[in-house]
Amino acid sequence: MIPIKGHAAGTMSDIPAKSKTEIDYLINNKVITGYPDQTFRPNNNVTREEAATMIGRAIGLNGTKRTTSFADVKASSFGSGYIQSAVEAGIITGYEDKTFRPTNKITRGEMAYLLTKAFKLKETSKVSFKDVIMTSNQGIVINQMVTGGLSNGYPDGTFKPTNNISREEFSLMVARGMNEDFRVSSEAKPLGVKYVNATSLNVRKGPDTSYAAIGYLKSGDKVTVYSIANNWAYITNGSLTGYVSATYLSDAPPVVQPPTDPQDPTPPVTGKHVITIDAGHGGKDPGSSGNGLVEKDITLAVSLKVQKKLEAAGIKVVMTRTGDTYPTLQQRINIGVNAKADTFVSIHANKFGSESANGTESYYNTKAALSPRAEASKQLATFIQKRLVKALGTTDRGVKTADYQVITYNPLPAALIELGFLSNKSDASKLGSDNYQNLAAQAIVDGIKDYYNWKDKQ
Ligand SMILES: [Zn+2]
Repeated sequence: MIPIKGHAAGTMSDIPAKSKTEIDYLINNKVITGYPDQTFRPNNNVTREEAATMIGRAIGLNGTKRTTSFADVKASSFGSGYIQSAVEAGIITGYEDKTFRPTNKITRGEMAYLLTKAFKLKETSKVSFKDVIMTSNQGIVINQMVTGGLSNGYPDGTFKPTNNISREEFSLMVARGMNEDFRVSSEAKPLGVKYVNATSLNVRKGPDTSYAAIGYLKSGDKVTVYSIANNWAYITNGSLTGYVSATYLSDAPPVVQPPTDPQDPTPPVTGKHVITIDAGHGGKDPGSSGNGLVEKDITLAVSLKVQKKLEAAGIKVVMTRTGDTYPTLQQRINIGVNAKADTFVSIHANKFGSESANGTESYYNTKAALSPRAEASKQLATFIQKRLVKALGTTDRGVKTADYQVITYNPLPAALIELGFLSNKSDASKLGSDNYQNLAAQAIVDGIKDYYNWKDKQ
C-alpha cells in the first residue's frame, strides 16, 4: 500500500479473481498500488495510516505531506497529508492522548467509522449481526455501512468488528464506496416471524437485562427476528427495534386470545367452577365513606347480589363474609383456597379527597409477571371492568396493577374491583341505588362468565 509508482491494472499476479474488477478499478484510479515486487498481498492487514491514505485518495483529499495534529505522525510520513486532510474533514479522529498510532492495524469496526464519514453514508435499515450491539454507536455505523452497500458481513451472521481488515476486504469496501455499481445488497434477511408469549416483555437497548428497556410488547404481539445470540433476539415490532429474551418468543401465536369485547348475551358457562366472592372490609373495618354511604355496606350488598346471580348461573360461590363481620385479609384468601375455589374476586368502592375523582377501575397483580396466574388475573380484571363500565356508565379508569394483599398473596387468579367513588356525587348516587347495585352485580357476573368461557378454552 505504500505509494510507489503505479502499476498498470492487472499486472499484479496475486490479485484474487473474485475481487479483481474492484481492485483493478482502484489501481486505475490511483487509489492503490502494489508492492515493489509487483505483488498485491491481499491478505496483509491494513494500518491506520494506509487506510487514511487510501480513503484520502478515493475521495480526493489533499495529500500534500505536511505537519499533522498528531505527535506520532511526522510531516515526512507518507500519509501525513491525507491524515491531516481527513482530520480537517471530520473523517478521522485520533486517540484521547492525541496520538494517531499510524502503524496500528485498523479494525473492521474502525473502518466502519471511516467509511461512513468518507462516503457520507447516513441511512440505516434492519440489518443486524450476532456479534454487534446494533443500537450502540459502533452498531449504528456498521448498520450505515452495510445499508450503504459497502459490506454485508460474514455468511455466519457476524461482522467481527474487532478483527483486523485485509487489503482485499478493504479494497472492496473502498471501491464500493467510490462506485455504486460495485455495491452489495444490504437487504436484511430476517430469520422469521415470532410471537410474544409473555404478559409483558421488555424490549432492551442491548442483549442483556443490564440494558435499559426502551419499550415493551404484549402477549401475542408479532415480531420480526433478525438475529438470535445467547438467547437474545434482535427484533422489530412497528417502529420499535431492540433486543428481547428469546425465551418468551414462540413460533405460533399464543392460544390466549380473549375476545376484544364481551359477547351479549353472555354464553352460559359449561365448565365446573368455584369462585370466591370477597365483600371488601366489614365489621370493625368500615372501609371508606362518602355521601352518606359506607363502603363495607355497599360491597356486601353488591356481593350478595353477585352470589345469587352466579348460583343461578350454575357457578358455585364461596363467600368470605355474608354479614357485617371482619375476616382478616389472609383469612379471606384461605377461605377460597380451602374451598378449592379456582378464582377470587374482591369487591370494593373508592374514595378520594377531591370530589371530582370518579369512575370504575379493576386491579390485578403482576408479582409473577410471566405466570399463568398473572395472565389469568389480568383477563379476569379486564372482563369485569369492561362489563361494569358498560353497565354503570361510569368513567373507565382502566385495568391496573397493584399490590393489594388479597390479589398479591393469593395462589388463585384474583381481581380487585373498585366499583366507583363514594366521594363523588354521581358515582355515589349509583352505588347507593338498588337498581344500580343490581346492574353492577349482573356486570360482575357477566365478566366472570366471560372469564370462565375464556379460561375453559385455554
Ligand atoms: Zn376498599
